[in-house]
Amino acid sequence: MGVYARAPLAFERGEGVRLITEDGTEYLDAMAGIAVNALGHSHPKLVAALAEQGGKLWHTSNIFRIPGQERLATLLTDHTFADVVFFTNSGTEAIECAVKAARKHHWANGQPERIDIIGFDGSFHGRTLAAVNASGNETYLEGFGPKMPGFVAAQFGDHDALRALVGPTTAAIILEPVQGEGGARSWPEADLQAIRRLCDETGTLLIYDEIQCGLGRTGKLFAHEWAEGAAPDIMTVAKALGGGFPVGACLATADAAKGMTPGSHGSTYGGNPLAMAVGIAAVEELVKPELLAHVRDVAGYFVQQISGLKDRYPDVVVDIRGKGLLIGVKLATPNREFMQLARDQHLLIAGGGDNCVRLLPPLVITQDEAREAVEKLERACEAARQKAKAAA
Ligand code: PLP
Repeated sequence: MGVYARAPLAFERGEGVRLITEDGTEYLDAMAGIAVNALGHSHPKLVAALAEQGGKLWHTSNIFRIPGQERLATLLTDHTFADVVFFTNSGTEAIECAVKAARKHHWANGQPERIDIIGFDGSFHGRTLAAVNASGNETYLEGFGPKMPGFVAAQFGDHDALRALVGPTTAAIILEPVQGEGGARSWPEADLQAIRRLCDETGTLLIYDEIQCGLGRTGKLFAHEWAEGAAPDIMTVAKALGGGFPVGACLATADAAKGMTPGSHGSTYGGNPLAMAVGIAAVEELVKPELLAHVRDVAGYFVQQISGLKDRYPDVVVDIRGKGLLIGVKLATPNREFMQLARDQHLLIAGGGDNCVRLLPPLVITQDEAREAVEKLERACEAARQKAKAAA
């Protein structure tokens, strides 16, 4: 189906932060499949895990115990607020699980009327009907029938308005601690703490979507950890969880997941042995404190260098935002055009809302590679300037 406006480019293989076309042309990958290839391409541990499991066992069924699932769930719960995990094949399925778990929690508590999920403008939670309704973005809803009941739209950053929206039918508040598709917009830590308190006061569940900003991307294992005392009740992860193998997860406290009893939810593939082998290898790397420290260092370097670009090219670069290696650059020139100018320099970057481009390189990017990315970005800025001059 014609749902993608694809760039006229295809790759044959990848190594670290490089993607290589069939004719051997190298591109510096500063988007990592939109925050997926967190450990870079062809990471030897992930390749080995997949190959080893591929020769042993691919799939059984969730009607049996799956030891890899138990291991990965333990890894995740050991490092988070969560007690339990449900594995999926994608981020949006993890969101579905989060929404269902939140509603079922209240149902199990004898409050079946609590169904409303409050989401924020600029958010993105995936493409299933529940996910597009939760984010409320009209572009993704248009033509797909009436808006679903049970989803309420709130304004990013307006706490008084949010407080007024929370009522007897509210089940949960859902947000990305750093909005990805919305243009690398980070929630202030104090706001997350205030929302946590509001949830505690009203018995509302707090769902964080850390599908893009989680698993090391911001320099902490999870982005919400920057805000002390603001842990969620439910959290979705995916993308970096499989480093390119399709896998997602919905994490929850035992209390939040109390309604998720046998038969209430499920998946054929979710958490199968292949996905779990790769997920374990990925998470074992991503939890390493030295990797998280590296992300903070290299992100500091990136932001400092891009600030230099903003000074030298104020006619092109308007603002720098985001957290860690989820960097948003708001542009004066159309972002789609700028992405092509970057590709002309053999640099891959992602688009984003509010006329941003996003840099989401593999977390293992070295400082030298980051310097190379900034040099390419600078040449793209110069090209954008010349283009604007020629058009004037
Ligand atoms: N939530 C966030 C924050 C995302 O960035 C994405 C994907 O970009 C999703 C959910 C949906 O994940 P998936 O495309 O794996 O279904």
